[in-house]
Order: sequence, then structure tokens, then C-alpha cells
Amino acid sequence: MTVEVSTGVIRSYHAHIYFRDGSEREHALQLREWIDQRFSVQLGRVHEVTVGPHTAPMYQVAFAPEVFHDFVAWLMLNHATLSVLIHPNTGRARDDHLDHALWLGEHLPVRAEVLSNDPARDVISPVVPNTAGS
Ligand code: ZN
Repeated sequence: MTVEVSTGVIRSYHAHIYFRDGSEREHALQLREWIDQRFSVQLGRVHEVTVGPHTAPMYQVAFAPEVFHDFVAWLMLNHATLSVLIHPNTGRARDDHLDHALWLGEHLPVRAEVLSNDPARDVISPVVPNTAGS
């Protein structure tokens, strides 16, 4: 049976912007600059190697539910060939990354084995915008 989940459990979102070669990296960094200038979000540092459940280099953008429409709509129009994983943060990291995720571009593999649905293991920090557009 399907159980309804209220959107009230969403404390924030992440967008993970992946790059797999030099030209994707260049576009990802251009996008990062634009995001910095235009949106009130928390930009994470660029990971040049894979980390956690992610299977390609990437950077993370954390954002509040209030920013979802403007930011995700903009990403839809500007991600070009980049793969982007957008997931809610509800305290159930495994479900958030696998079942509740939204992808732009190619859907990349996610390492499910490092993710847990135990809220005690999923510390969700409040979004602290650090962008010029804040
Ligand atoms: Zn994330």
C-alpha cells in the first residue's frame, strides 16, 4: 500500500551538480558562478573526486523550500548536458536520494549502501546562504 508523505517533513533541499570531463567541469563552474550571483543558497565546495553516495565529481547547493521554484526552474533551463540530482532532506537519507529524487539530465548511479534511513545518522544543518546573491 502507498503511504502519503507530507511535504512538511522537507527541511531543505540539495542540488548536486556533477561533472565527468573537462568540458562538463567548465560548464559546472560557470553555473556555480551564476548561482552565486543570482540565488540565496548555500554553495558547497567543489569535490574533484567522488564522495559519499555520489559516483562523479560534483558540488552541492543547499537551499530552503522557499527557493525551490525559482532555483529549480532556472536549473532546468541552464544545466545543459550536466547531470543534476535534486533531493529533499527529510531525515531519511536513503529514501531522499533514491525514491524522492529528481534528476535533470542523465541519471547517474547512487551508492545506496552508504545511505541510511535512520534520522539519527542524517544530521541536517540549517541552510546558511553564503552566496553573493543572498
Ligand atoms: Zn545531498
